[in-house]
Amino acid sequence: MLSHLHVIWALMRGQRLRYGFALVCLVAATAINFGVPLIGTATIDYAVSGKTPGADTPALIALLLDAVGGAGALRSHLWLAPVAMVLLSLVSGVFSYLKGWQSALASDGIARQLKDRLYDHLNHLPAHYHDRMDTGDLVQRCTSDVETARQFLATQVMEIGNAVILAAAAFPLLWSLHVPMTLVSFALIGPITIYGYVYFLKIKHVFLSVDEAEGALTGVIQENLTGIRVVRAFARQDFERGKFAGPNARYRDRSLHMLRLMSWYWSISDLVALSQLGLTLLVGAYWITTGQLTVGLLFAFLSYLGIMLWPVRQLGRILTDLGKTSVALTRIGEILAVAREPEPAAVAPLPTRLGGAIAVRDLHFAHVGQGGTRDHAEGDGALNGVSFDVAPGESLAILGPSGAGKSTLMHLLLRLYDYPRGSIQLDGRELAALPRSWVRGQIGTVMQEPFLFSKTLRDNLRLGRSGECAEAEIEEAARAAAIHETILTFERGYDTLIGERGITLSGGQRQRMALARAILKRPPLLLLDDALSAVDGETETLILNALRERRGRATTLVIAHRLSTLVHADRIIVLDRGRILQTGSHAELAAQDGLYRRLWQIQTNVEADFKKELKPA
Ligand code: ADP
Repeated sequence: MLSHLHVIWALMRGQRLRYGFALVCLVAATAINFGVPLIGTATIDYAVSGKTPGADTPALIALLLDAVGGAGALRSHLWLAPVAMVLLSLVSGVFSYLKGWQSALASDGIARQLKDRLYDHLNHLPAHYHDRMDTGDLVQRCTSDVETARQFLATQVMEIGNAVILAAAAFPLLWSLHVPMTLVSFALIGPITIYGYVYFLKIKHVFLSVDEAEGALTGVIQENLTGIRVVRAFARQDFERGKFAGPNARYRDRSLHMLRLMSWYWSISDLVALSQLGLTLLVGAYWITTGQLTVGLLFAFLSYLGIMLWPVRQLGRILTDLGKTSVALTRIGEILAVAREPEPAAVAPLPTRLGGAIAVRDLHFAHVGQGGTRDHAEGDGALNGVSFDVAPGESLAILGPSGAGKSTLMHLLLRLYDYPRGSIQLDGRELAALPRSWVRGQIGTVMQEPFLFSKTLRDNLRLGRSGECAEAEIEEAARAAAIHETILTFERGYDTLIGERGITLSGGQRQRMALARAILKRPPLLLLDDALSAVDGETETLILNALRERRGRATTLVIAHRLSTLVHADRIIVLDRGRILQTGSHAELAAQDGLYRRLWQIQTNVEADFKKELKPA
């Protein structure tokens, strides 16, 4: 438990002053709460019953009577007691409010800071970390785990403080009033505390199983919603409903089980708490008849029990929550412990703009699943010794079957992964020694499945540009990517929102948007990873013509499956199983016997057949 508290204490850094203030308010509220029953006791025993203070008067009551000018004064101003009790309760209420407010502010501050840190950290983690982590799990850690911690920090931390104060103050206070009665009043407090602790320790796994069942249920819903179109297209609704029914029933069963156990706990602890009150009342009443106790003192003891019983019964719950919070914080800590993408220590001043020359030598790379963390066996990686050069402004097309290593090559150029062997140089500088942000600032990328943000079309296009950019420039880029006309057909033009709150773009439109975004960035290096796969042939020709007009402005690397995309490239490399098989222009490669010519023949034959089919007989 101490290690749990240690973690919480570390988390509270930066907000400890606020917690300190909340704690002062808590102490003030508790002290005032403890004072109220004493007024009752003094009034009942010395003002109403007419007892005169003597040697058997508890010190605190004697002090109180002295403060109001003696028992006689209290008797003649009886109204003072209820008014003071109400006023004190009011002041205590204000302190309680301040305590709650301050701890809520502190916990919100911590949660926000934690989320910011997590979010920033996740954005700087290496690509291979994201490759192997489940996104749903990461989202859960960033949201519900942080929320578990926040709730604990907002309420339970103060409850722990409350319990400690009660334990430290209540016993001596009651002891000073009446020793035998204190022993009676605490008779069942010990057992009830131990019962709570052991009970929650025992059913901790039930809480965990409910959490797991909830996670599983969320997972099914998430998967279903992500693939809702596939579900509909394959008329799988019934199957999906069946798939949902299992986890749903499991969640209900486990929740019910937990609720039943909780009901048991609260019923039994109700019984013990009431027994404690009953016992105190019974023994107290008996001692009043024998003259060992006054009515006022019995009133005080019953009042203090009222104050103490709830926090005592909550203790088991607080300790369970402490465990849960600790698990949540461990899960969060696991993310924060992953090292960020390393950045080179010191770099010589870099030019603002790259010339655009690329030199790749004997490049090797294997993904983690392919033995990337070990020295992979020769030839079984994604790239197995690739070498080529691209001059500034030149366009290079990369062709190859799926799994040949084309995307991996693009990812290495973007420094998403580090390469263990070989070299990539940009304008003669080794890529691995260049800061990632600078490298990525020099590159415009279009992926096969580009990601657009839930913003307006204009904002999405401007993403790569840090400063202002003129409307004409945005339009020019959109025209080059053949998306301008399409945008104008939307009612709100460039101000059209996309994503969940706006319209949905087709795959081809998204690719064209991404291309326009990359062009607007005006990078010296343009990487197009199967960027036109969802665009129809006619639009593709338009785009390729526009790109050809811009030739020379950027070094361009194009991955494509359609040969029509590649034929106009200055040079083409044919990649297979991480190795370059052929290099040359379209004319050179078409004249050579090899993979390129075979692909070319297949595609041209298919097109010819297709045209023949279309021709009316
Ligand atoms: P291409 O783009 O030519 O289709 P890729 O570069 O995507 O090929 O993939 C090359 C090889 O690396 C393939 O065998 C593929 O299965 C593997 N690979 C690609 N990405 C990953 C990844 N994130 N984790 C593990 N293996 C990967």
